[in-house]
Amino acid sequence: MNGRALYPGSFDPVTYGHLDIIKRAAEMFDELIVAVLKNDAKTPLFSADERVKMISRAVSDIPNVRVDSFEGLMTDYAREKDCHVCVRGLRAITDFEFELQYAQTNRILSKGMLDTVFLTTSLEYAYLSSSTVKEIARFGGDISMCVPEFIEDIVYDRYAEKKKS
Ligand code: ADP
Repeated sequence: MNGRALYPGSFDPVTYGHLDIIKRAAEMFDELIVAVLKNDAKTPLFSADERVKMISRAVSDIPNVRVDSFEGLMTDYAREKDCHVCVRGLRAITDFEFELQYAQTNRILSKGMLDTVFLTTSLEYAYLSSSTVKEIARFGGDISMCVPEFIEDIVYDRYAEKKKS
């Protein structure tokens, strides 16, 4: 497929599940923008800038991936970047309802200019979510099967800082 696609998400933090989707989507499009959502309604573990830095390092070997952050409506951001395809990952049937609604809403908001392409997760990552990673790390569990080593250290450090304060 030609053109530029957008992969939006919270990525708090990015996991092997997200990275698998990024790798596969980057092979399908000329350019992939991974867009970190700055959402004031949620209190993330990492700031948007920290998340952008972590993803950038994790995808530094994929030349056609760019990492950015955005606020507000994803459809406005997509229009600004001239993107007509949004990539999303599907893990299980539980993702489906939310993802379907998100895709349809975005199609309506963009007046048909933004369509969504779903990639199904690689089975070994089907159980993985950022919340699972945080839940395990918070209690000192092993997250080496969920995130790259350098992210593992950053996540443990953040919980250690939190404990101190
Ligand atoms: P989460 O907090 O659930 O990881 P994100 O907002 O960071 O959610 O996810 C962005 C997109 O990546 C969503 O489409 C989500 O379904 C997808 N995704 C998240 N984890 C995985 C995974 N393990 N495999 C495939 N897709 C995933």
